[in-house]
Amino acid sequence: MQDASIGVMGGWKDGCWLWGDLGIPAPTGSGSAAGCLELFQLLSAATVTANQLDSTSWQHEDDRVFSFSSCYNVLYRKYIPFGLNNCYDSAFVAIWKVEVPLKVKVFGWRSFLNKVPTKDLLLNRGILNSSSSLECVFYDDFDESLHHSFLLCRNVAIVWKEMSEWIGLCYISILDFKENFWYWSTFCRAKKVKRGKEEIVLLAILWSIWLRRNDIVFNNSSWNSRDVVWSCKALIWR
Ligand SMILES: [Zn+2]
Repeated sequence: MQDASIGVMGGWKDGCWLWGDLGIPAPTGSGSAAGCLELFQLLSAATVTANQLDSTSWQHEDDRVFSFSSCYNVLYRKYIPFGLNNCYDSAFVAIWKVEVPLKVKVFGWRSFLNKVPTKDLLLNRGILNSSSSLECVFYDDFDESLHHSFLLCRNVAIVWKEMSEWIGLCYISILDFKENFWYWSTFCRAKKVKRGKEEIVLLAILWSIWLRRNDIVFNNSSWNSRDVVWSCKALIWR
């Protein structure tokens, strides 16, 4: 197939290009069927032009030029979306020693794995469908996801900023939750946050945002940055 031209893979009908079967026998296993479906979806998005020589084009880069680093990034995002094992994985162990209620630890653990039931995850699981409201409930700027609604949303950013200032920490947005856990713990230690409370701060912020989110979704509440900040501090002080 690598030696065949596009011209033998389909034909023109009423001015429209139709792909043939590309010489691929009817798939039997679900894996090969899914692979064929994906291939035909990709092909259906391609434009075929009459009287033009075939050429290659790498769709994942603006300049359409293939490189191994680009290919690596595509595969990395597809098959290892939550990252390779890294030096922050010790957060998986450390989190169980933090003196917060078990449900807060479990929530933090789920955030490390991107398993918090935000709307994007519920959509993937079929619990929500495309007609459901998928918007972020804090500020309807983007769809709800762990990264957007807990780190990037403009309302949530106010909480991160205020909590950073309260501790005297220079806030930088880190998208890896495990790395965030260590970043906040390390800085809290340096800032002499009360001993034993260093690891609590990040979990308190995440948990307070989650509680507010559920209050909005299930109790028609609304966003209030000051309330969320106070909720974080209350968890840290207890
Ligand atoms: Zn938002």
